[in-house]
Amino acid sequence: MFAHVLFNAPMPEPYTYAVPEALYGTLAPGMLVEAPLGTRTAVGCVVAMAPDAGTVDPARLRPLTRRVTPDYRIDPEIVALARFVSDYYFAGPGEALATASVVGFRDVRRHRSDFFRLVADWRALLDAPLTARQQQACETLEEAGFPVLPRAHLATAAHASPAILRRLEQLGLVVPTDPDPEPVVESHANDFADPLVPSDEQRDARAVILEALEPTRFQVHLLHGVTGSGKTEVYLQAIEHVLRAGGTALCLLPEIALTPQTVERFQHRFRQEIGVFHSQLTRRQKLELYCRIQAGAVRLVIGARSAVFAPLPRLGIIIIDEEHDGSYKQGENPRYHARDVAIVRARRLGIPVVLGSATPSMESLHNARTGKYHLLRLSSRPSGSRMPDVRVIDMATQVVPAAAPSLLSEDMVAAITQRLAAGEQSLLFLNRRGFSNFLFCPSCKWVARCDEDDVALTVHRKRPRGESPEEPQIDLFRLTEQPDDFVLRCHFCGSRREAPRVCPECKADGLLTVGAGTQRIEEELAARFPTARLLRLDQDTAGGREKFLVAWSRMISGDADIIFGTQMIAKGLHLERVTLVGVVLADVGLFLPDFRAEERTFQLLTQVAGRSGRVSDGEVLFQTYLPNHTAIRHAMMHDTEGFFEAELARRAKLGFPPFSRMIAITLADKDRDRAWGAARQMGFLLGRMRPRHGASRVTVNGPTIAPIARLAGRFRYRILLRSESPKALGILLRAVLDHADWKPTPTLHLTIDVDPIDLL
Ligand code: ADP
Ligand code: ZN
Repeated sequence: MFAHVLFNAPMPEPYTYAVPEALYGTLAPGMLVEAPLGTRTAVGCVVAMAPDAGTVDPARLRPLTRRVTPDYRIDPEIVALARFVSDYYFAGPGEALATASVVGFRDVRRHRSDFFRLVADWRALLDAPLTARQQQACETLEEAGFPVLPRAHLATAAHASPAILRRLEQLGLVVPTDPDPEPVVESHANDFADPLVPSDEQRDARAVILEALEPTRFQVHLLHGVTGSGKTEVYLQAIEHVLRAGGTALCLLPEIALTPQTVERFQHRFRQEIGVFHSQLTRRQKLELYCRIQAGAVRLVIGARSAVFAPLPRLGIIIIDEEHDGSYKQGENPRYHARDVAIVRARRLGIPVVLGSATPSMESLHNARTGKYHLLRLSSRPSGSRMPDVRVIDMATQVVPAAAPSLLSEDMVAAITQRLAAGEQSLLFLNRRGFSNFLFCPSCKWVARCDEDDVALTVHRKRPRGESPEEPQIDLFRLTEQPDDFVLRCHFCGSRREAPRVCPECKADGLLTVGAGTQRIEEELAARFPTARLLRLDQDTAGGREKFLVAWSRMISGDADIIFGTQMIAKGLHLERVTLVGVVLADVGLFLPDFRAEERTFQLLTQVAGRSGRVSDGEVLFQTYLPNHTAIRHAMMHDTEGFFEAELARRAKLGFPPFSRMIAITLADKDRDRAWGAARQMGFLLGRMRPRHGASRVTVNGPTIAPIARLAGRFRYRILLRSESPKALGILLRAVLDHADWKPTPTLHLTIDVDPIDLL
């Protein structure tokens, strides 16, 4: 017997190994094995078994070492889906499969103590009251009505930390137990909490979705509903229908760690075990979840990007919330887009997909207009609250005293003051973290840049504010006063260094910190509203699930008057006390060298504005230097249709997506000449072989210097391919990569990004 094995490496074909006799009858495609690879051993995945070695001399083949992760097998459906991902996104088949495996190619073991059972008479066993957290964990176990729950579920549903579980174990209230309970296959009537009574629009949308469920067939629905219009309720009702019929459901959310509220809503509605995939799960927890999903014990999975590969049997529907969100696209190989992979998966299975958003992507909207997707609209909020009034403040007309420059206009200050007096919350948004965007010498025009990346360094304050009772007064614009408090950081490679006291070029002092980030806003807010409770949310204060949850509970408990931060606060939050949303500078991001800059700005402003007045009527203020810009004007008027019209017309004229498809090729090397040589050679081959006519016409732009000219010390050149036909693009690029004249040096870093969404 022989086995074809793929490793997590950019290898084009599987390697063949001899199967030792001891493993006969135990191997099948999708299983993990350890095998010799060069001078070491590595874990790979069996993709095929063969009775003979093909063209290779069997005596020369090395044997597999052993089988690893014994309980685990990648689903055949997922192996096939990974094959598509590898072909379409130009990734190695092993890289694609390793991503789709969710757990990764590692030796992982299931562990008994990852599962807990609550003892039946636990209340009777208490001699002293439990802490609130302990009580919550026990009650979650009890309410779930299951004999056994995995640690991962308790961690998400009851915020039960390992310490809490250990304590409960010591008290004899929970018992670690066997990982394989009876799979729960049937739904019971009491598994579902009552749904809300749908509005007319919600009822219509639900009816259309349910139509594609009886009989089940492939159909993509684009659910375009204004923020707070009850899209989630439509998802919940469609999912309930599928679960009651014995099927399973998958719901993708962007950045699940940041959406505890949505997860809680699902848990409240479905009184059954829900599989929550998030990046903080350990491999073992992922393995447990994987096995339980595969066994049918977990019938509803929610998760971020990689959950699209969850091995749900009898999958009946896929929901993709905030379908426009950039986090669905992976930034490394395989550079897949989870929304698009989900649609391919649904087409293969013959099941419906629901894409939901208040600000759909141009691509999805275009597909709805051309009839490829089915458009469903929710135009109002069921709570009855109006869309908030948006006022634009033209910062160019603000009179600012030179002695006291300010990031906040008088109107913004007045609006915040009013909320503070009324005991309501304000939310301020600025999509940049750190103190200022760069450090600048006004004498010689020097700017601090990263040594490895061709980007300006961001200025950060070292210590978090509020550590010492006597907060020193910070000069908001000049660095020279307190240089020890600042550090320069690269947002690309993470490197940091001390901020210089004087200009390293001309030795002048008076270095300026230019541009504003969330830390500077913090200084200004603290100075202007000394008694207000401030809460900053950005990568630096709330990166990671734990920190975010702490900030989160402060937010909802009302223990913050002014919440401010980056796009972390723009997404999916439902904050009842927020009646003012302020955008500090709406123009940020408009001038990035990316054709989607306008679309992103519009989406972000609309999402941020949607955080205001979710319950009572709210107000929104946009500060901007460009009050007449299309993206800002349309976001102000809640005019999504108008923005789409304008933007689609512009894209059509440029021949950009959605009117064409793209592949971005980046060629990078530490040696500039080698990078440029490879780029020219590739450009030449592409130009020579490209189809020039008809629908399969391919346009080749470049090579040019990439917008970020150097990254990780490598010089970068860019070629953009465009065509109406994605197939033509793929065929052309494949032909060039296989061409005898394409001979890249081993030092070349070649990145191929199909349907790119980040063009920097
Ligand atoms: P979206 O997902 O479109 O942003 P949500 O589903 O979060 O909107 O709904 C916004 C609010 O409206 C939530 O508090 C939700 O409970 C409420 N809601 C949704 N549908 C209904 C309904 N049919 N009746 C009453 N309230 C509803
Ligand atoms: Zn850097």
